[in-house]
Amino acid sequence: MAVEVAVGATETAGSVETSGPQGATEAAGAAARLDASDATARAQTRRIEVGGVPLGGGAPVVVQSMLSTRTEDAEACLAQVAALAAAGCELVRVAVPAHSALDAFGRICAASPLPVVADIHFDHRLALGALGRGAAKLRVNPGNIGDIAKVDAVIEAAGAAGVPIRIGVNAGSLAAAFAERADLGLPERLAGSALAFLEHFEQRGFTDVVLSAKAHDVRTAVEACRILAHEAPQAPLHLGVTEAGTLTQGTVRSSVGLGALLLEGIGDTLRVSLTADPVKEVQVAWELLSACGLRRRAPELVSCPTCGRCKVDLIRIAEEAQRRLAEVSKPLSVAVMGCVVNGPGEASAADVGVACGEGKGAVFAKGKVLYTVDESRIVDALMEEVARL
Ligand code: SF4
Repeated sequence: MAVEVAVGATETAGSVETSGPQGATEAAGAAARLDASDATARAQTRRIEVGGVPLGGGAPVVVQSMLSTRTEDAEACLAQVAALAAAGCELVRVAVPAHSALDAFGRICAASPLPVVADIHFDHRLALGALGRGAAKLRVNPGNIGDIAKVDAVIEAAGAAGVPIRIGVNAGSLAAAFAERADLGLPERLAGSALAFLEHFEQRGFTDVVLSAKAHDVRTAVEACRILAHEAPQAPLHLGVTEAGTLTQGTVRSSVGLGALLLEGIGDTLRVSLTADPVKEVQVAWELLSACGLRRRAPELVSCPTCGRCKVDLIRIAEEAQRRLAEVSKPLSVAVMGCVVNGPGEASAADVGVACGEGKGAVFAKGKVLYTVDESRIVDALMEEVARL
């Protein structure tokens, strides 16, 4: 199906094919690579830079989050930025809800170790103000700025400053031409809105654009992104399932949606949206990228669920191992296994591992059993072997 679209009162028009996804899943074999991207949609997107961080064009998928602190409290914001950076966040988004927040936004930009993205809604003058205070990127939804002349003022100012813009479309603020299209499904209306805005930006010579189309419904978000990847293969994509919920629900919803897309080679940057400390968003994002075989920040933990055969406190051992391994940046696998059923096999297949018996564990490294330690020494022994590799 092709859909003729127009943005507001402008002359901008385009064609939206509502066909399916492109690109075959290329997850197999990726697990051995660090910071590797599939040679699919990700490789075709335009490379842009956000405050020195490469995004798109096959660059590693960028992890980002958003501050939950009040923007006017620059000190609290910078403390949260530091925590996010320590967790592996690479871009941080900051709400600019009012003119009273602009000066604090400028102080955050000046002191932040991470490039800062200004999140703007409704008032285009906030975007202009953020550009003048060090924003490395703008996130706008042209649909809620409204007047296309105001959108154009932002495009011109960002172009002059060399600052990229994310066109972030949500279900609640579609382009006028799509808001009432009852003949189209929500994924088509989301993607169609984003594509219409993209065409408008590109016609004005502005190509430093990232696209996003988010929804709370996972299938809707996935389908909208598939359409975008198919119809605008040049545009880097920001992935997210919006308002995904608290830690457990939000992690699952984000992992299902973003994981499906990442395994298809779609997506250049992501934000896991959680009603939780944003540091958790970053931790989940890295686990997600690791599970997709795309990027790994810390060793991968292989641990069994335990059962009636286990004769150590394996949950405590695994949790302590995961906490201490988070400080290690080596791309290793570490197995923590409860008994001899699967323990020796998994422990010898991992770079470092332990297969536990009654109150003790046999420690492995690179496929060889090294020695046996008491339960209380297991994590220390694993960390010592990890340090040797
Ligand atoms: S490795 Fe052993 S303890 Fe762990 S789940 Fe399997 S059988 Fe149970």
